[in-house]
Amino acid sequence: MKGFTTRIVHSDRQEAIEHGSLHKPVHSTVAYGYTDARDLAAVFQGTQPGFTYGRQVNPTVDALQNKISRMEEGLHTACFATGMAAIGTLLFSLLRNGDHFVSSAFLFGNTNSLFQTFMAHGIDVSFVDATSADAVAAAINERTRLVFVETIANPRTQVAALAEIGALCAARGLVYVVDNTMTSPYLFQPRTVGASMVVNSLTKYIGGHGNALGGAVTELGTYDWGRFDNIYEIYRKGPADRWAITQIRKKGLRDFGASLAPEAAHHISVGAETLALRMERQCANALAMARFLEAHPRVRRVYYPGLESHPEHARARTLFRHAGALFSFELDPAVDIWAFQNRLEVIVKSSNLGDNRTLAIPVAHTIYFEMGPERRASMGIDDSLIRISVGIEDTEDLLRDLGAALDG
Ligand SMILES: *Cc1c(COP(=O)(O)O)cnc(C)c1O
Repeated sequence: MKGFTTRIVHSDRQEAIEHGSLHKPVHSTVAYGYTDARDLAAVFQGTQPGFTYGRQVNPTVDALQNKISRMEEGLHTACFATGMAAIGTLLFSLLRNGDHFVSSAFLFGNTNSLFQTFMAHGIDVSFVDATSADAVAAAINERTRLVFVETIANPRTQVAALAEIGALCAARGLVYVVDNTMTSPYLFQPRTVGASMVVNSLTKYIGGHGNALGGAVTELGTYDWGRFDNIYEIYRKGPADRWAITQIRKKGLRDFGASLAPEAAHHISVGAETLALRMERQCANALAMARFLEAHPRVRRVYYPGLESHPEHARARTLFRHAGALFSFELDPAVDIWAFQNRLEVIVKSSNLGDNRTLAIPVAHTIYFEMGPERRASMGIDDSLIRISVGIEDTEDLLRDLGAALDG
């Protein structure tokens, strides 16, 4: 098989494109016309490939779906308007009232908020320390359907026991969903640890340029959906590896309607071509910055899986190509967190991550503000914690910016 970037750059051409176009064009139509009404009916009934209405899929989005399947070496991908839409739609489509799932406690803030809402709708969630497979195992009960984890948690960079949880899910017959946003399929393929489905926020590293929102769910073909009662009879047709993704497309994407726009799909698709190049540079920058800060007297602690001091350093080395492009750190209490950040000139004070630009945010005061001080303390989020999403700038400029802001 060809290498990662070769496969991605030539992905669109695997299907014939009009005029020999090298990119899949932006198809901005909503509906599709047929000369023979029988063809329209056949597409509706799924006996013939084709397009009917833009809420379900669109040719530009379809090309991106194929590209993401190639990145994850999966079988089928469904794209959504955002990463949150991908997570919400996946769980909404596959779980029912009375079901239970186990989730990592170290979650993207909005995913955590979404799971709280699921609990209000009769789907029970146990939040556990997913750096330990034993903690996951202890939370499983007879109603458990699924386990949900992220690869590297944001902002404290805990690395889940991905392989051990995969073995546990296989032994217990549970669906294993891995949110691969923080690593991206270039650094890690959840397929290698036995994941059933992968979630990616395309807004982050895959798109990379901070100019479009999107999300994706990829079916890896590893789970036997024949043993999953929640698949409706009407979707138990054809190969079983299509059942769950079809239900997600019909009950989730079609009925909920969080569809990815073709223009956004095009931006993401172009961005994805350089994922490996950007990631190499961003991870190298992150390691250089984390090492610089760890050695600096005005920094108390740095959390980055690429550092030998990180509790899951060995695990990250085994699982991931590099340790990611995001880290966080605590300033020495004598340093004013606001003055420090306001002295940064290259690094932008902004939320988001996975952008080409390096972004810094004071975590306790912004994305974790709503949680309150007790919950923050339980998650190990100190008031001086700053999260850095590392971009592609020249390393020396980033180190100089940090150094000047610390010494200022
Ligand atoms: C950003 C993010 C999401 C949500 O993605 P959006 O595209 O912003 O909706 C989900 N999971 C993780 C790990 C993220 O970083």
